[in-house]
Amino acid sequence: MKNIVVIGAGTMGNGIAHVFAMTGHSVNLVDVSPDALNKAMFTISKNLDRMVAKGSLTEDEKAATLANITTNTDLSSAAANADLIVEAATENVDLKLKIFRQMDENAPAGCILATNTSSISITQIAAVTKRPTQVIGMHFMNPVPVMKLVEVICGYSTSAETLKTIMDLSKALGKAPVEVNDYPGFVANRILMPMINEAIYTLYEGVAGVEEIDTVMKLGMAHPMGPLQLADFIGLDVCLSILRVLHDGFGNPKYAPCPLLVNMVTAGKMGVKSGEGFYVHTAGSKELVVSANFKK
Ligand code: NAD
Repeated sequence: MKNIVVIGAGTMGNGIAHVFAMTGHSVNLVDVSPDALNKAMFTISKNLDRMVAKGSLTEDEKAATLANITTNTDLSSAAANADLIVEAATENVDLKLKIFRQMDENAPAGCILATNTSSISITQIAAVTKRPTQVIGMHFMNPVPVMKLVEVICGYSTSAETLKTIMDLSKALGKAPVEVNDYPGFVANRILMPMINEAIYTLYEGVAGVEEIDTVMKLGMAHPMGPLQLADFIGLDVCLSILRVLHDGFGNPKYAPCPLLVNMVTAGKMGVKSGEGFYVHTAGSKELVVSANFKK
């Protein structure tokens, strides 16, 4: 496992590229948007600077990490000599199926195709390829360089050999992989998203304000951040997509996304990545300011 291709250079893709490059892998980071690639390289460099400032990385190690990453807007050429491709593009089934068909056509026969999807069926993704035994879920958590967990998801046809390779590789990245089976939302989001949705319903029904809801969960349940702040970090569009997958997959109305979440995504309020969600997010500032829409 030397040549790694990461597809999608957004919130997750830049973090995944960061951890592979830092552990000596050669990373080709691919995105359809040159702007996303530039932003990703800027973010990786800034995050490495933070590690240097803390003393957990030297300047030479930072330079070596950045030198391990190349960027590309063409998926087909990037895939040609990959040992592993980790797809972290936008959470959309049709898009992922299209990318997996393209990866399957262009990647070498031995290459493992992994997806960082939060909720889409690994079995469904694998079924559009000619190598379903080599397709697996590799679900990193946000922020990737910091969070230890990797949920490793076996699709219906994933082989034991592919599973072992990805479990071993995740450990080599310094992560703690956990093996789970392929059902909607897997484990992490099946439990997390109904909680976030319920927090949004609590706001929508006027039970309490943004800060009150987050404070109850932080101080009462010892969560490091409240569910509404966490939703802003994850991306409200990503939360909505995951809830739709849970709703469709189980056919249970308890997973129906709150209308407020649907409205916010329609209005382009995606959280941190768009600058506004439940809070207003100013670049470089960690101060939490509740969005004017939710101020009493
Ligand atoms: P994002 O919107 O920040 O980034 C997605 C990137 O994919 C964008 O830069 C976009 O330009 C790119 N893209 C779209 N189509 C593409 C294509 N055809 N080829 C290459 N690049 C393409 O999204 P994100 O939050 O980084 O999520 C990416 C994946 O990771 C999703 O599947 C999501 O469910 C999953 N995930 C997200 C989180 C989170 O906290 N945000 C956590 C775990 C997993």
